Amino acid sequence: AQQFLDRIEAHRELNAFLDVRPEVTLDQARRADEMLEQGKGGFLTGVPVAHKDIFVTKEWFSTAASRMLKGYKSPFDATVVARLKAEGMVCLGKLNCDEFAMGSANENSAYGKCFNPWDSRAVPGGSSGGSASAVAARLTPVATATDTGGSVREPAAFCGVTGLKPTYGRPSRLGMIAFASSLDTASLMAPSARDIAPVLSKMVGFDPKDSTSADHPTEDFSRNLGKSIEGLRIGLPRSWFSEQLSPEVRARIESVRDFYRDRGAVIVDMDLPMAKLGVPVYYVVASAEASSNLSRYDGIRYGYRAKDCATMDELIRRSRNEGLGDEPKRRIMIGTYVLSHGYYDAYYLKAQKVRRLIAQEFQKAFADVDAILSPVAPGAAYDFGEKADPVSAYLGDLYTVPASLAGLPSMSMPCGFTGSGRPIGAQLTTAPFNEALLLQLADAWQ
Ligand code: GLN
Repeated sequence: AQQFLDRIEAHRELNAFLDVRPEVTLDQARRADEMLEQGKGGFLTGVPVAHKDIFVTKEWFSTAASRMLKGYKSPFDATVVARLKAEGMVCLGKLNCDEFAMGSANENSAYGKCFNPWDSRAVPGGSSGGSASAVAARLTPVATATDTGGSVREPAAFCGVTGLKPTYGRPSRLGMIAFASSLDTASLMAPSARDIAPVLSKMVGFDPKDSTSADHPTEDFSRNLGKSIEGLRIGLPRSWFSEQLSPEVRARIESVRDFYRDRGAVIVDMDLPMAKLGVPVYYVVASAEASSNLSRYDGIRYGYRAKDCATMDELIRRSRNEGLGDEPKRRIMIGTYVLSHGYYDAYYLKAQKVRRLIAQEFQKAFADVDAILSPVAPGAAYDFGEKADPVSAYLGDLYTVPASLAGLPSMSMPCGFTGSGRPIGAQLTTAPFNEALLLQLADAWQ
């Protein structure tokens, strides 16, 4: 733990961490030592972990990278945090991200952008930019993240690490600061699938305190690691390899395809044409849910409160205006618009219907293939400021949002570099509750 704390201190320029408290970390490390001495420890006891600042923690501030929650301390630990703590994992602190997990480049954090350790001009990806940067720079062996529409997979790809979003509902959402409740999924990042598997086994599981928690047995996700992939059917959705995709990324994904073919997997030509509607559907649904979830930040119950207000109305208005950044405000406006009387049917309801069609399309596809191989993003990490126009940033989510809308497990694994040395990721997606297969496939490649 001390070694990682020293590394975090030595790499403060990355701005990957928002809150570090060495005394609390070292105290947890001492307790882990005691657990081990008393023979009570497990495989993960003493292994350090860092949490995205979307998970609430009792001992570190929980801000969701927003000014709105500056200095906020939660009275309880998120279930994911509590589960890993109970295993004796040692928390190194809280990680930078986009404000309320809204973004794809970590440029929306109220506490400054986070840097990509491979290239200081490149974005680390987002929203879990701090998790990706910290894992890539080896400031932590494993990090939690959240994925609503790609926030674990895209930054993992941009920083050259492995990221896994489990099936929606499999990890608890209790204590995850809400963005879009029907999509938000606790996730993990680590150097490889082999590092993720044992942590995932302890992280997921039914939580009676989360109304959307899946009552599905936990399992040993390491059990398929190293097993042959011979005979497995891997589909590549044809229309996802169109002009939007950079030739460098395309070539790397094809090399993964060829590797799997050489190992005896069956490569299947298929398509997911509905998935091209993923971006508009996602930004309607996610914004609608965000506008509802963020209504709790009223300056009264908790968080930032504007000073010297004459009326209640002014207090709420000014607290939200001063406490929230541009991106959450944009989503609240989109969300209230699509939910408002007169527009609800045309936008929100329509988006829900197309969401169902996307999910059905995947369901049909998985009757024929075991997994889908695709790009994570149309290109590698871009430069800071390059996607200042929000719509151009939203469009970059085209390959990650379909699995989110369908609630499917999906992961990103490193598969090479661009000519300028920026990492490239490949995405694997399976049917619900098939994380063990995802990890097996990623491990075979790694
Ligand atoms: N980039 C997407 C967005 O801005 C996804 C974010 C996420 O998964 N939290 O909404």
